[in-house]
Parts: sequence; structure tokens; C-alpha cells
Amino acid sequence: MQDAGQNDKNLSYAIIRAGISGILAAIKLHARGATNILVYEKTTALAGTWLDNRYPGPTCDTPSHAYSYSFALNPDWSAYYACGAEINADFTKVATDSGIIPLIRFNTEVLSCRFDEEHCIWRIGLSTGETEQADLVIVASGVLHHSNIPDPPGLDRYAGKAFHSARWDDSAMVDGAKVGIIGGGSTSTQLVNALSKRSARVIQFQRSPQWITPVPKFPYTPEQRAAFRDDPSLMAAIGNDPQYWANIYRFTDDLTNFISSQMAEIEAICRQNPEMNVSDPDLGEKLRPNYPAGCKRLIYSWEYYQCVQLASV
Ligand SMILES: Cc1cc2nc3c(=O)[nH]c(=O)nc-3n(C[C@H](O)[C@H](O)[C@H](O)COP(=O)(O)OP(=O)(O)OC[C@H]3O[C@@H](n4cnc5c(N)ncnc54)[C@H](O)[C@@H]3O)c2cc1C
Repeated sequence: MQDAGQNDKNLSYAIIRAGISGILAAIKLHARGATNILVYEKTTALAGTWLDNRYPGPTCDTPSHAYSYSFALNPDWSAYYACGAEINADFTKVATDSGIIPLIRFNTEVLSCRFDEEHCIWRIGLSTGETEQADLVIVASGVLHHSNIPDPPGLDRYAGKAFHSARWDDSAMVDGAKVGIIGGGSTSTQLVNALSKRSARVIQFQRSPQWITPVPKFPYTPEQRAAFRDDPSLMAAIGNDPQYWANIYRFTDDLTNFISSQMAEIEAICRQNPEMNVSDPDLGEKLRPNYPAGCKRLIYSWEYYQCVQLASV
């Protein structure tokens, strides 16, 4: 890493948001020798997405060793797809070890940002009523912290608890309860998987069935974790696995070409899933997408089709 030039070091930096992107920007600037850095975070803690999403069963669907800062690989990931709490703890630890926590102003939302042409400086309006200034503003804007809350007719008459998965209500007693899940994306899939084993009845309301890619679920053994610790190149190899990246590029390269052979291959892989695993033909039909795989983000799951066939769902 190069040292910042003298001019860079003297600049003041405002980083808006302390998710994994904002944390990274702060770590890198701090390491380059910048001394005037402030990170504004509207909540009480960092790690953004992984702090918000505390619903039962969240995991990444990128291999944990790829979903890591390259300079802080983690030999202790418990599984190929780590769970949300673990990811939150990992990014928080990296931020703490890097010494950037004192640079973060928590409970401080940035409400406005205006460039003052006359004085060549950014004026930053904060929820505390203060206005701060900085030479450079880095907006590390996650998009998912704005929850999309549906408003189905009759919701106002519903007497039970109703909340968004990214605002999980810990007092909600989902064990043994009857739970309705609105949505069919990655989060809903993970929720159905988790609650089908805990709740008495799970009803999933989906607008359209999803393309779901089968992926392996496997925990790392203590021996594997010891090997990662001894030889970090093993972790880098998982993060850079050509097979994994070939799958990603197969999808992204053909996103705009639905009749390509690669897209047909993706659909064939996904199709095997319901056809192989769902015994009830009516249910299999409800789960089979009727649009090309590239129209929506693919969902990765190792157990959805098994879970939707449990008696509780
Ligand atoms: C359940 C789930 C699973 C996911 N799994 C994966 C995965 O496997 N692989 C993958 O690549 N991606 C995944 N994602 C996407 C994930 O959001 C990104 O990978 C990443 O965490 C985004 O980080 P970020 O720092 O850009 O934004 P965020 O994590 O959203 O952080 C933004 C931060 O900014 C704060 N903030 C927002 N507005 C303001 C403001 N005005 N002032 C001050 N602070 C503000 C928020 O409180 C938040 O802390 C997943 C997302 C979800 C919800």
C-alpha cells in the first residue's frame, strides 16, 4: 500500500455510512496516513446489512472466504456460507483491530450534503442539528437499509405482530406459532427454511416462484480451520475458486441474452431442483418459474425444496 501524499494526508474525509463499504474506506484511508477522517453512521453499531438482518437463518450466499476483506481473511468461518451474526462479528472485529472505531460517529444520520463552491468544501448537515465540513465525501451507500414494506388490504385489522425481516422483533414468539411470510426472494427463502423447523405452521405468500440454484451446505471442521490458519493461501483459493467465478460470470455475462446456451444451462441446473425433490405435482407446479432465469437475482439454497414439503409449511 502506498503512503498518501502530504496533500492527501491533510485533507479531511467524511465517510457516510459504516457498512462493510464504509468500514473499508475508513481502514484504507487510515492506513494511508490520513488523520482527519470521520465516519457517520445513523445506527448504534456498524456492519450495516448484517446488523439489520437478524431474522432466523440469514447466511451469505457468496462463499464466506470470498465475502471477506482480502487483507483480513478469517480462518474461523464456521461454514462455506457463514451466518449473519458471524459476518457481523467478523466485520466488527476487523474494524476494531484496524483502530477505526474512534473515527465513527454513531447515532448520527447525514441529512444533507452540499458543496460550497465559494470555499471549496462540503457542508454536511447532521441529524444532531450540527453542520460539519469535509474536503472529500465518500458515500458508502448501501441500498438495502430502506425496507420495502407492503401494505396489503386488511393489514390494519391484523391483530398479531407484523414487521419487516430487516427489523426483526425479538419478542415475537415464532416457535410453535402460525407465521405468514410475504415474499419469495432470498430472505423469504431463508426464513421459510428456518421457520419450517420451528413454527407450527408457515405460509409463504409469493408473487412469482423463483429460480433456485442448488448449492452445497457444509460446515468447516476444526481440522480445516486449523489448516486455514496454517496456510492462508487455502482461504484465498476458496475466495478465488475459478469454478465459483465461472458460475457467477455465466449468469452476469448472459443476463441480457436469455436465449444463450449458458442461460439454458443455468435453467437446467435449477429445474432439476423442484423436479427432483418435490413429490406433490401441484406443489411442484407452484414452485416452477415461468420466466427466464435471468429476470431476477438467482436464489441459492441447499434445502428450500425439502423445507417447503415439511408438514408445517
Ligand atoms: C440478507 C442479506 C444477505 C446478503 N448476502 C449477500 C451475499 O452473500 N453476498 C453479497 O455480495 N451481498 C450480499 N448482500 C448484500 C449486502 O447488502 C452487501 O453485500 C453489503 O453488506 C452492503 O454493504 P454496504 O456497506 O454497501 O451497505 P450497508 O450494509 O447497507 O451499510 C450502509 C450503512 O449506512 C448507514 N446509513 C444509511 N444511510 C445513512 C445516513 N444518511 N447517514 C448515516 N448513516 C447511514 C446504515 O445504517 C448502514 O449501517 C446481502 C444482503 C442481505 C440483506
